[in-house]
Amino acid sequence: MNLLEDSLATGFSRPHPELVFKESIPDRGPLSPSVAAEELRRIAEEVAGCAKCGLSMNRTVTVPGEGAIFTPVLFVGEGPGAEEDRTGRPFVGAAGQYLDTWLPPIGMKREACFIANCVKCRPPQNREPHPDELAACLPYLERQIEALRPRVICCLGRIAAQTLLSSTRSLGELRGSVHQRKGIPVVVTYHPSAVLRDKAALRKPVWEDLKLLRTLLVE
Ligand code: URA
Ligand code: SF4
Repeated sequence: MNLLEDSLATGFSRPHPELVFKESIPDRGPLSPSVAAEELRRIAEEVAGCAKCGLSMNRTVTVPGEGAIFTPVLFVGEGPGAEEDRTGRPFVGAAGQYLDTWLPPIGMKREACFIANCVKCRPPQNREPHPDELAACLPYLERQIEALRPRVICCLGRIAAQTLLSSTRSLGELRGSVHQRKGIPVVVTYHPSAVLRDKAALRKPVWEDLKLLRTLLVE
């Protein structure tokens, strides 16, 4: 791929070809789209009525996650922010709009992915979710992963990476290689909010991570 100088790396943008998958992979993808859709709907319904942790107290609406059922990639963030808490949709604020610009360079569109978070309710003042809150909410994400069976999981930021990989290692240590979680490859990159705060330092490593992600989709 010779788009290195492009897009994220430099901020320069031009039209990108859409990703072409080499082969459909028989052991990926939802077992049955209708069963998966029903399970995702059920999870969203349960989340909407959930009071398993203290984050239920301050939420406006829950943000279960959304996207394509036949998704090659499941992106996992930390938790809803203000805009997400208002709309019920993941990654629609500034971080989400920035994330949208990461996808075309790797041949993807937001509508073709699934986007979810570790916690489905907004932490007050956007603080980090506490370990007990992450633990309480993880079963919903686990069920989403089982229903979707994505080809790759991409963790956005340290919280998602540490939660999904059951690790205490730093983001810097976890990014740059392909991990496995219950048979699904996992890659890790910086959270779009962090990159927005320090584009000069983080845009390039994110681009490297996205290229790694892309190799897992086309190989
Ligand atoms: N940050 C996240 O981690 N998730 C969102 O949905 C929005 C911002
Ligand atoms: Fe339930 Fe998760 Fe919301 Fe906590 S964050 S109340 S576990 S849906």
